[in-house]
Amino acid sequence: MSPNQRQALADRGGGFHGKSMGYDVIIAGGGPAGLTAAIYSSRAHLKTLLLDKKIPGGQLNDTTEVENFPGFEEAISGSDLMERTRKQAERKCRA
Ligand SMILES: Cc1cc2nc3c(=O)[nH]c(=O)nc-3n(C[C@H](O)[C@H](O)[C@H](O)COP(=O)(O)OP(=O)(O)OC[C@H]3O[C@@H](n4cnc5c(N)ncnc54)[C@H](O)[C@@H]3O)c2cc1C
Repeated sequence: MSPNQRQALADRGGGFHGKSMGYDVIIAGGGPAGLTAAIYSSRAHLKTLLLDKKIPGGQLNDTTEVENFPGFEEAISGSDLMERTRKQAERKCRA
């Protein structure tokens, strides 16, 4: 793709030109890794867009009990943990 074609695509809001869409960071995948990245990038005041092909939360959405997450004395269900993480990321991204 030529630079002109890339710019034309970016001007239409497509392609990989996050800056031209007003985002500093675009994260592909909303599992624990992607959600954590979103929390950190928005803490750094970078305008962040997170994309997931399904509901953000990744593999832990389907995990019954997570027993090794620091801060949770009792096991927490993977979907509850990811819902909390998702809300934390959304709150940080909106701030
Ligand atoms: C049954 C089970 C039980 C587990 N139990 C534990 C546990 O108790 N403790 C523990 O620490 N770990 C556990 N794990 C492992 C843990 O789930 C993974 O280590 C963790 O989810 C990896 O996170 P991730 O963000 O790297 O990837 P993933 O969780 O795989 O997330 C990837 C995300 O990217 C999205 N995605 C993929 N392709 C695209 C695309 N092309 N465009 C947009 N989005 C895309 C997916 O929809 C998904 O949401 C378990 C895993 C399973 C399967």
